[in-house]
Amino acid sequence: MTGPSLCGRGTRPATAWPAATALLVALVVVPACSRPVPPPRSRDEIFQDRLRVPTLYISETSGKRIVTEGGRMNFVDKESGEVCWVAWACHAPNCPGRGPNGEPFLCIEADAGFYAKPDGTVGYDPKRSGRTPKRVGMCPQCSVIRKPESETPEQAMEYSRLVQLHQLPEAVARIKELDEEMARRVEWDRQHTVIGRAKPAAGAP
Ligand SMILES: [Zn+2]
Repeated sequence: MTGPSLCGRGTRPATAWPAATALLVALVVVPACSRPVPPPRSRDEIFQDRLRVPTLYISETSGKRIVTEGGRMNFVDKESGEVCWVAWACHAPNCPGRGPNGEPFLCIEADAGFYAKPDGTVGYDPKRSGRTPKRVGMCPQCSVIRKPESETPEQAMEYSRLVQLHQLPEAVARIKELDEEMARRVEWDRQHTVIGRAKPAAGAP
């Protein structure tokens, strides 16, 4: 480890440590005392950020993968002109679509009623919706091996529970941060609210 030694046994003379201590006080203690702690962001701001975490989308026809901000069920990829859908991951232990290292199969729940309009936005036509290919459950790979006629309602429910929105590793970390920020906001609200009305608090969003 390099840098000045505060105990005076390093390369600097013992008289250097009061100066170092004064510097520490100036850097750490004084700003903390003179600056009021800002209130945490509003619940809505935190919630909006939570929706916008990086999310994987997969295009309907070619299977192109796009990572972009979340919060949308689908959108039109300007390059390919395809509708892209938010990715789901099948965590069924016996899913035939698992990767060589057990990676969950990623799928989309495309509805043929949604189509790309010439202006690059998503349109919806209920008449087209009927053309959506039928499958047993969300995961097309599990749908091949499932026998719905012999499944109990609990087994069918378990299959649907095992297909979850796919979360990218970077989104998992960000969601954890945002959940912690939300917890601080909830606590802040609890401390600044009296029954029936909010306490006046300067700078509260
Ligand atoms: Zn599956």
